[in-house]
Amino acid sequence: MSDPISARAKAVDASGIRKVFDLAAKLENPINLSIGLPDFDVPEIAKTVAKDAIDAGFNRYTPTQGIPELRERLKADLDAEMGRDVGDVFIASGVSGALMLAIMALVDPGDEVVFLDPYFVMYRHLVTMAGGVSVPVDSYPDFRFDAAKIEAAITPRTKLLIVNSPSNPTGVTMSPDEVRAAAELARKHDIILLTDEIYDAFRFDDTDGLYSPAMLYDRTLILRGFSKTHGMTGWRVAYVAGPSEIVEQMIKLQQYSYVCAPSPFQKGALAALDADMSGHITAYRRKRDIVVEALSGTFELARPDGAFYAFPQAPAGLTATDFCTAAIEKNVLTIPGNVFSGRDTHFRVSFAAPDEKLREGCRILCEVAG
Ligand code: PMP
Repeated sequence: MSDPISARAKAVDASGIRKVFDLAAKLENPINLSIGLPDFDVPEIAKTVAKDAIDAGFNRYTPTQGIPELRERLKADLDAEMGRDVGDVFIASGVSGALMLAIMALVDPGDEVVFLDPYFVMYRHLVTMAGGVSVPVDSYPDFRFDAAKIEAAITPRTKLLIVNSPSNPTGVTMSPDEVRAAAELARKHDIILLTDEIYDAFRFDDTDGLYSPAMLYDRTLILRGFSKTHGMTGWRVAYVAGPSEIVEQMIKLQQYSYVCAPSPFQKGALAALDADMSGHITAYRRKRDIVVEALSGTFELARPDGAFYAFPQAPAGLTATDFCTAAIEKNVLTIPGNVFSGRDTHFRVSFAAPDEKLREGCRILCEVAG
């Protein structure tokens, strides 16, 4: 029988994360610190509005680019926040959908895409699917945006620079100087800057300074979503803002792929924008403190100032995969760094878990480290 599978599909390697999930499936009631989504639910007002929309028959396609009232609101908010006209805004099916469309719209075979290593794993796979070349730039051990290192990775084939702040998997948030450097580099080399700001609400320390390179550089694509900020990962609602010639192409591709984000949930997302999420953010700051305090004595750890991840180093002499496997044997789930990186030296701890589980999980991780 001939092999039906495309070279494109085969080029994407999912083995790292599958191994963890296979091992985890055998556990009865694990302390799960591997989860990439918040442990709080969608705000009540968003549920009510989405349910009402369903009952009122708002169940058909929306315009490809999303419902006007949500787009207009997001555009007004972003223009105000960035202090300039951010361009066109459309609603996507999750930041995942937006990333797929951005890469399909921008990357030709052979084009290079630069981002920090460790990285959100989807970047590498999407670039592969588009026939592009990922250029991960090592950012160990502090996971900072080092402009000199990034610049050394830029070539005439570089099409896109992706930044992700706060970062998955490190929790590190770019400083104002780093944001400025990213915008300057992109301008100097005439490349598009894609800023994945899905964790924008989860910033725990300095929240007043310059945060988004979109404030400085007009060839920036901003990707944000509701999955993390409003606990609605299953609703698949996110948004994109950027130069109209790029956004127009992304909307065209959405028309032939995702079609539109789910209709009733676009209404729910609009209502969610006015919900007060600050209590959850305060709780996550406390969870960050719990993890940093519990782990820093035992592990090398770059202090996370955003998202809900910490990325400590595995004990000397062990790969992260070895360490995570040993932790699974003690019923604690974390993700080895080789899922997000060319290295297998660190592991991701998600603190999107109840405080007690978090304390217990960290205690066991320290115990396993000996
Ligand atoms: N970007 C980053 C950095 C993420 O961590 C995630 C989710 N894990 C996404 C994008 C995609 O999120 P969604 O598709 O749910 O909006």
